Amino acid sequence: MTGTDRSTGGDATQTRRTVAPPETDDRFAVPLRGVGVDAETRCAHYDTVRDVVALRFPCCDAYFPCFRCHDAVTDHDSERVPRGAFDEPAVICGLCGTTFSVRTYLDREDTCPDCDGSFNPGCRRHHDRYFDADP
Ligand SMILES: [Zn+2]
Ligand SMILES: [Zn+2]
Ligand SMILES: [Zn+2]
Repeated sequence: MTGTDRSTGGDATQTRRTVAPPETDDRFAVPLRGVGVDAETRCAHYDTVRDVVALRFPCCDAYFPCFRCHDAVTDHDSERVPRGAFDEPAVICGLCGTTFSVRTYLDREDTCPDCDGSFNPGCRRHHDRYFDADP
């Protein structure tokens, strides 16, 4: 069984991390992947009008609409944004494409700091899957 071993021979081989980021989507300014992702970062799992935010996973340095997307398109366990990185860009608004920090996201109470669009407040229940926040 050779599994998924593919030798490409292409010239697009950049290795930045030991865990390679998944194939990305050129609709977005950042590496962003998921399942059934639309132009505003909704996905197959969360597709209400306000599911328009994606989060960066430090394990593979790419953005995903949700942790289920991460698990579907990668082959490793997701890691949460560590507390020490809360001031680094790790959230993208699917409405305007602005990236901002976890701290800004948590402070804003489910709105975009740039376009003031609304995010799904239900995501708050899952924050511990994305951010190493409350002890
Ligand atoms: Zn990952
Ligand atoms: Zn998803
Ligand atoms: Zn926005």
